[in-house]
Amino acid sequence: MNERKVDLHAHTNHSDGVLTPHELVEKAVEIGLTALGITDHDTVSAIPIAQTYAVKYGLEIVPGVELSTEDNGREVHMLGYLIDIHSRELNERMAFFRDVRKARAYKIVEKLAQLGVHIDINRVLEIAGDAAVGRPHIARALVEAGYVRDIKEAFDRYIADDGPAYVPKAKMTPLEAMELIKRAGGIPVIAHPGLLGDPDYVRFLARHGLVGVEVWHSEHSPEDMAFYEALADELGLLKTGGSDFHGKGHRTQLGVPEVSYEVLEQLKAWKAGVPLQG
Ligand code: AMP
Ligand code: ZN
Ligand code: FE
Ligand code: FE
Repeated sequence: MNERKVDLHAHTNHSDGVLTPHELVEKAVEIGLTALGITDHDTVSAIPIAQTYAVKYGLEIVPGVELSTEDNGREVHMLGYLIDIHSRELNERMAFFRDVRKARAYKIVEKLAQLGVHIDINRVLEIAGDAAVGRPHIARALVEAGYVRDIKEAFDRYIADDGPAYVPKAKMTPLEAMELIKRAGGIPVIAHPGLLGDPDYVRFLARHGLVGVEVWHSEHSPEDMAFYEALADELGLLKTGGSDFHGKGHRTQLGVPEVSYEVLEQLKAWKAGVPLQG
């Protein structure tokens, strides 16, 4: 019956995705999505722009964000859905973390220089434009300067979490992020828990206010999806999903894996205060 499909996890060039909000909307329409969740890192600036185009096409935009958090040296990504994008507190916190990202980009470029790899920080910032600058922008500068063939090689050789030019960035804790998202009227959902590989940590977050789990994700194996679906049910958490589309070079297929519109209906019901079914 319900054949409407959504993709609730996509990035634009307002963070480290490649497509503009308009291009992303066009792509979502082209592949027949009913709703598209835009979840840039540390910014919501793409959302109102996407909405102006989406209206024309009858596509629904789900306002979202992806916050990088850290607990004891481990990086946890927290999605916030159906947030109030005008929340002053949320916007102030995101602005702070965008500044943190910029300062860290300088440090990574310095570390690369110490390794004999010379890219220009101004070129990195130019590639990022107004976007929240991230490692993918540095990766693109590395490709451009001919040090590596592609984004993947840039990560593998230099800037992956265990790479020689990696620099961590200051982050909030997952609990802070969940609170912040809730105060902005949103729904906190742990992103791609399969990449974290610690179900007990999801249980821990569930005891501290987590509302949903990203069950379906492009880098989850079928086993991961089955596992986290069961875990979400066991813990009484909402289930969400999306491709984590960034465009060229990384997580490149919008709309894969398939996610039913019903998932979005559940998010809306939660926000409206309707208890979870089943
Ligand atoms: P940052 O937020 O600056 O730490 O960068 C993290 C982002 O880099 C992630 O959200 C992904 O988009 C991207 N990323 C992480 N690991 C890889 C990888 N191995 N290959 C390509 N992109 C990656
Ligand atoms: Zn990203
Ligand atoms: Fe993520
Ligand atoms: Fe993401």
